[in-house]
Amino acid sequence: MARYTDASCRLCRREAQKLFLKGERCYGTKCALERRAYAPGQHGQGRKKTSDYGLQLREKQKAKRFYGLLEKQFKNTFVKASKRKGITGENLLIMLETRLDNVVFRLGFASSRKEARQLVNHGHFTVNGKKVDIPSYEVAPGSIIAVKKKSQDSPKFKEIKEMQISVPSWISVDVQKLSGTVLALPTREEIDTPIAEHLIVELYSK
Ligand code: SF4
Repeated sequence: MARYTDASCRLCRREAQKLFLKGERCYGTKCALERRAYAPGQHGQGRKKTSDYGLQLREKQKAKRFYGLLEKQFKNTFVKASKRKGITGENLLIMLETRLDNVVFRLGFASSRKEARQLVNHGHFTVNGKKVDIPSYEVAPGSIIAVKKKSQDSPKFKEIKEMQISVPSWISVDVQKLSGTVLALPTREEIDTPIAEHLIVELYSK
């Protein structure tokens, strides 16, 4: 599958916001946005004039990059969200949050969503006891996500057992068992992603 392969930090600088794409590095002084807080490229420090369309487009790009989706995957998620009951923008964020790769990241089993996607792809996780290797798999309230038995002895997961992990209120984690439970679907207030979803809805409604 096609994937974005250019430097991740350029994406944060383009959106003028930390998207936390590189794990630990994002939390330290080596973060590129801390060092060069302007857009990349020749005109990165130039004068900015943004139209309504420009604002909507940037918000969509930011959300897409935050969750590590490609354009088509993001649009498909939006279309599904718009067909569900409720507010489309909120549905979209809930669907993005409940992707298996995002939940693995939120549970602290990966340092970034990119790493979480890779771990899921490599078959290291089960949902309700069954192996699931699809990053976009949507977990539901009551779902139990766990590191596969065979993978639990790997240095990566052994290290996690020693860590203190704090998770959002809609999931719980049992670090010793390397598993987590979805307690409920997240509400908008419980999703801390810095995205103005109404701008994305406006963009796709044109
Ligand atoms: Fe973004 Fe992380 Fe790079 Fe900072 S270190 S610019 S947060 S990807």
